[in-house]
Amino acid sequence: LRLEMQKSEKLRVISELTSVFAHEIRNPMQVTRGFLQLLNEPDLSKEKKEYIQISIEELDRANGIISDFLSFGKPTIDSNERINVGYQLHRVVNIIKGYSLNHSVEIKTDILENCWIYANPQKLNQSLINILKNAIESMPNGGIVWVTCTSTDDGYIKITIKDQGIGMTKKQIERLGSPFYSLKESGTGLGMMVSFQIVHSFKGKIQVNSETDKGTEFIILLPQIA
Ligand code: ADP
Ligand code: MG
Repeated sequence: LRLEMQKSEKLRVISELTSVFAHEIRNPMQVTRGFLQLLNEPDLSKEKKEYIQISIEELDRANGIISDFLSFGKPTIDSNERINVGYQLHRVVNIIKGYSLNHSVEIKTDILENCWIYANPQKLNQSLINILKNAIESMPNGGIVWVTCTSTDDGYIKITIKDQGIGMTKKQIERLGSPFYSLKESGTGLGMMVSFQIVHSFKGKIQVNSETDKGTEFIILLPQIA
């Protein structure tokens, strides 16, 4: 008798382990960061202060990579279900509230309550969080992010996430979603890649309108189901 794990079972185990590792690695990183901050005393040499600063930034970068992939708990494979986008959007906005307040950003919503799609809720939320995070981060002096959800005449659920941030040039928009493309000091350049991948896996589309120094609008279209 040959014992063989099904491929999907293997994938499930891998993805579950990955998310367990991610969460377990975060705790010691957090502790290390805390002690580094304690070490950073005023009388230290300029050089030593710089080493501490770099260490903290690198820890934040590692933490960012985990967030862009796995902030949403257990990633599950091939487990699409009927989900209410409006409900998920409210959840996502609640989850990111602390982060937006820290950046002096207010999130305003206009969300249609009953809009159903067939998707994996964890993955959908991950992709929305990544886009929302970028919207918040695009406004260094704070501002407003608008989140809307409607249904279109041609059978899509349309989510828009709009900021008043630094915006992007045409060239920058073209590079969006390429792995490790980031203009941020400690960015990962993975958030957009993950978001695009997830939305495409649900047979959806992402459009981007942006103007430098005016702001950016992400439009996410997902096939609506009854
Ligand atoms: P990261 O946020 O770690 O830099 P992302 O993949 O999430 O990586 O985003 C890639 C880049 O796309 C960002 O560094 C930024 O330059 C640009 N970008 C994404 N969203 C926005 C936005 N709403 N406004 C301005 N620039 C954006
Ligand atoms: Mg990002």
